Amino acid sequence: MAEHTFDLVVLGGGSGGYAAALRASQLGLSVGLIEKNKLGGTCLHVGCIPTKALLHSAEVADVARESAKYGITTTFGGVEISGVTAYREEVVASKYKGLQGLIKARGITTIAGEGRLVSPTTVQVGDDTVTGKNVVLATGSYSRTLPGLEIGGRVITSEQALELDFVPKKVAVLGGGVIGVEFSSVWRSWGSEVTIIEALPHLVPNEDEAISKQFERAYRKRGIDFKLGVRFQSVTQDDNGVVVTLENGETVEAELLLVAVGRGPSTANLGFEEVGIAMDRGFVLTNERLATNVPGVYAVGDIVPGLQLAHRGFQQGIFVAEEIAGLNPVVIEDVNIPKVTYSDPEVASVGLTEAKAVEKFGADAVKSYDYNLAGNGKSHIIGTSGSIKVVRQIDGPVLGVHMIGARVGELIGEAQLAVNWEAYPEDIAPLLHAHPTQNEALGEAFLALAGKPLHG
Ligand code: FAD
Repeated sequence: MAEHTFDLVVLGGGSGGYAAALRASQLGLSVGLIEKNKLGGTCLHVGCIPTKALLHSAEVADVARESAKYGITTTFGGVEISGVTAYREEVVASKYKGLQGLIKARGITTIAGEGRLVSPTTVQVGDDTVTGKNVVLATGSYSRTLPGLEIGGRVITSEQALELDFVPKKVAVLGGGVIGVEFSSVWRSWGSEVTIIEALPHLVPNEDEAISKQFERAYRKRGIDFKLGVRFQSVTQDDNGVVVTLENGETVEAELLLVAVGRGPSTANLGFEEVGIAMDRGFVLTNERLATNVPGVYAVGDIVPGLQLAHRGFQQGIFVAEEIAGLNPVVIEDVNIPKVTYSDPEVASVGLTEAKAVEKFGADAVKSYDYNLAGNGKSHIIGTSGSIKVVRQIDGPVLGVHMIGARVGELIGEAQLAVNWEAYPEDIAPLLHAHPTQNEALGEAFLALAGKPLHG
């Protein structure tokens, strides 16, 4: 039995928790970081990083298939899943080693084990008591399922999907949001037949509707099947596969069903309610400065209602460390956080959709411009189609940017600067974009909205 005392105790070592620990230590605070599994959490071990490794492998398969178009002779001989696994594991292991080294180098004390909040300043980890002047809750999230839909056997979540040691011939995917479409993209590139089932009227339903529609066209062209606006009813499984029945009576037969219907907060039985922390359906409620209703206790990452993204977790972790150190950091609202759907094609966005902008300012006060990537040289060279749509307030700033096409996730950085800095197209349009880049397409949209389209 040991007692540890720190300026800051962080419960959970994922994106939000470790970012809080790193920034707090940089600011001179002593930090105890409690982790029951592996530092790096969901994103590093079973989320962002390993899935992007799979997507890269999928892209290589597509490049091999299409190489003749670029004058290169090669053949796509199939997927060697053990090779994919070795590559994925090497990427994760290397990033994990780097993170462990960084945490150690910053003098952060890591405490291995499952923590439970026993007072506003104390976390119990086994027999050890860990006390801090402030506590940051960062326990992350888990894959949700639907009532009556049990995970097991051929009904899997993203965690089992990552670990599959074969390429399924036929997969059903429940959920057309980011995680569902990401795995669908990988499997399709590897040769699987894929059917996505989505209860809302569109795939990637949180994106600007024009982008969602283009995304659906691209997926249809890739041979990915989807059923929209229809709910799941039940599933049966046997040795041969699954049969998914939908509420309209249709059935989908497949080898596996991936359940990708969102993620719930991992907050059950951790003592949060007992200490008096206000919660809503398992999420920890905070004010905009990420403080809970219990003085000295903060929350970050996926347990805080809103977007569940690693970079939001990083930002919130940095924010609370600075807040505790008295630096008065700037609040970033969810709407101004960039989002990327990693797939073929990619979708990237930040700020208001056109519909939300119209709702907020009125149709007469909003203008948008949709630049077709067909006019962009680099997009033609790399063989992608798509578009970049910029929404602005008339006589006002850029309100939102919405993109679709290969690699557009790499372009969202500039767009988020424009949105967060409330830049006027007139001010940023004269700034240069290197030629030929896909980035020029964003510049063309800014030029058009400033009233001087060049190629549009
Ligand atoms: P987590 O990363 O889940 O970390 C929480 C940590 O707390 C875990 O390590 C857990 O072991 C630990 N913990 C929990 N309870 C306790 C306890 N009682 N005691 C001690 N330790 C505890 N986001 C992106 O931005 N980009 C992407 O490309 C992306 N891809 C994704 C793909 C998939 C398949 C999934 C599932 C998620 C993806 N995400 C992505 C989301 C991203 O992973 C999460 O938003 C992010 O990990 C949230 O960080 P967090 O710190 O809140 O929680």
